[in-house]
Amino acid sequence: MTKRVVVFAPHPDDETFGCGGLIAKKIRDGYEVIIVEMTDGRNLFKSILNVETNPSPEDVKKIRKEEVLKATQILGVPKKNIVFLDFKDGTLKEYEDEAVEKVAEILRRYSPVEVYFPYMHDCHLDHQATNRIVRKTLHKLGMTPIKYQFSILHKHAIVGPLIDRILNLFRKNMIRLNVSDVICTKEKAIKEFKSEISIVSINQKKPLEKKVNRYLKNNETFYIMTE
Ligand SMILES: [Zn+2]
Repeated sequence: MTKRVVVFAPHPDDETFGCGGLIAKKIRDGYEVIIVEMTDGRNLFKSILNVETNPSPEDVKKIRKEEVLKATQILGVPKKNIVFLDFKDGTLKEYEDEAVEKVAEILRRYSPVEVYFPYMHDCHLDHQATNRIVRKTLHKLGMTPIKYQFSILHKHAIVGPLIDRILNLFRKNMIRLNVSDVICTKEKAIKEFKSEISIVSINQKKPLEKKVNRYLKNNETFYIMTE
């Protein structure tokens, strides 16, 4: 029987930036990968550039859906395995009960051996909500796949990851997965997020390499959750 893993992404891109290497490796190793996009990412332009028309949030939602489908296809995940829950970007916290119901359906359907979701100390509210929703649902269903958290942006940008590394000496809960063998695939997938790449470069007025390179290291870090 094919083993399955489910990756929960708060926004359409988190799966690729956060664990695109892992996804490509799992596919190569014969796993079936299911990716769940929790929100529609409609507020990308609004939150970074304060733009609400041209493109409108509805346009952004469509664009990001297309981009994430292309990116995940490069990682090896077929379209049918990308599930869009379409909660409005930025509001997941308000719909946690509804989200638990939807996530429960998915977990029951696929019975994954591993699940991946955002780190509890990530700074974005949708990321924190996704963490709570997945844990709550697993607890409710009594399911016990291995739980891995991936970090996109730690809420204490520099100090946080450092403290995590020190705590790891005792907790041993951090895993660094070498993804150098699939890094070209991950880079290609990341380049599909053209809308995001364009606005980040407008906003920062400097080359995007710096932001993108943070996610193109030879290792991806995961925090195992034991409770
Ligand atoms: Zn996100």
